[in-house]
Amino acid sequence: MTDQVEHLDCRCQDFRHSIRFDIEDDTGYIYLSTHIDQCYPWYKRLWIALRYVFKRDAINGQYDVTFIKYEDYDRIRDILRRSEIASAAYFSRLREQLAP
Ligand SMILES: [Zn+2]
Repeated sequence: MTDQVEHLDCRCQDFRHSIRFDIEDDTGYIYLSTHIDQCYPWYKRLWIALRYVFKRDAINGQYDVTFIKYEDYDRIRDILRRSEIASAAYFSRLREQLAP
């Protein structure tokens, strides 16, 4: 279950480049989500979607970029710290369950 959500805006201020961090409290896992690029015309996006539906990867995949601002470094450290704490607790619980 995802319990913590953080958003990080791109240096260029385009909200489509924002990154969403979903941090699971139970495991500390972090899921990074970005918006799908909409710069192509509709027929190209449809072609990409069809290739995705039929699991035909593009040659280099579909990527977008987010420039992380220096001012956000502390927030990123905090996100990773929270994930580290939750992950350590999760793996500690797993070790206790597996211990004889
Ligand atoms: Zn940007």
